[in-house]
Amino acid sequence: EAKAKGKNTYHFYSKELNAAANERLYIENELRQGIRDSQFHLHYQPQVDSRDGRILGFEALVRWTHPVQGPISPFKFIPIAEATGLIVELGEWVMREACAFSARRAKAGLEANVSVNLSARQFQDANLIATMSKTLRESGIAPDKLHLELTESMLMGDVDTAISQLLEMKRLGVSISIDDFGTGYSSLSYLKRFPVDVLKVDRSFVQDIPEDSNDMEITAAIIAMAQKLNLNVVAEGVETKEQMEFLKANNCFIVQGYYFSRPLEEGAVNALPEHLEVEAP
Ligand code: C2E
Ligand code: MG
Ligand code: MG
Ligand code: MG
Repeated sequence: EAKAKGKNTYHFYSKELNAAANERLYIENELRQGIRDSQFHLHYQPQVDSRDGRILGFEALVRWTHPVQGPISPFKFIPIAEATGLIVELGEWVMREACAFSARRAKAGLEANVSVNLSARQFQDANLIATMSKTLRESGIAPDKLHLELTESMLMGDVDTAISQLLEMKRLGVSISIDDFGTGYSSLSYLKRFPVDVLKVDRSFVQDIPEDSNDMEITAAIIAMAQKLNLNVVAEGVETKEQMEFLKANNCFIVQGYYFSRPLEEGAVNALPEHLEVEAP
């Protein structure tokens, strides 16, 4: 009987694996086509001063509307784009588009900071610096308007190579954020060696404030550490007033999350007031 059960289990898993492999293959092919057919666009999520609601900049987030499947989440297609190398081409497009957005905002006299997510594959790409430099030049934006978001795991492999790549990026005049901070290797001794400017506290620490006191302590500790290291700190995934108030009380003055705004189309973003509503505490 145990044997029969085992056999069923085997069939079950192989079916699931097959379906997953097929879906992966499907997405891979569709990604290729989607890049050719311009099926991608960007949304922009405001980063806000927790003290007065002023918009300080935006994170650019890629969106894919498939002609048949409709919207497909980046959580689904970014890892496949990464594994196949398609992320390099897609990522270059994202950077051009985000810089063009920043240029249009600057021309209109609006806040023009924009953050772009970089994937591991892009960070390792030998052409990254040349491409970034060309993109900045062609867009005409001041390089300090562009912020690149990397994750800890991208830095912790070959540390010396990572540092020299970061230094080349910094030489272009852009700034560097560590995204999803606290979820990766978090080697604190290395952290000071990396020429980074911003830590982004991962949403997983923010989402259970104020119910989870551990998360509150971790968040407060990351903010305090960032201050000691002279880094700016951004909290992501802020959904409630309590979370925003907690962050502000702990000296985290840059916040991003649904509490203020979801990621929006460029038109909607440009229609936002300079200050988003912050209710009195
Ligand atoms: P991320 O860089 O950590 O981006 C933040 C994600 O959290 C975004 O999901 C955003 O929509 C979501 N978010 C923001 N505020 C809240 C909130 O208050 N509550 C909740 N529940 N979620 C919130 P999104 O846009 O689905 O992107 C997911 C991930 O995909 C990103 O995480 C990033 O790692 C990756 N990604 C997105 N766009 C790009 C891109 O252009 N290039 C690369 N390489 N990766 C990208
Ligand atoms: Mg990010
Ligand atoms: Mg993040
Ligand atoms: Mg992320």
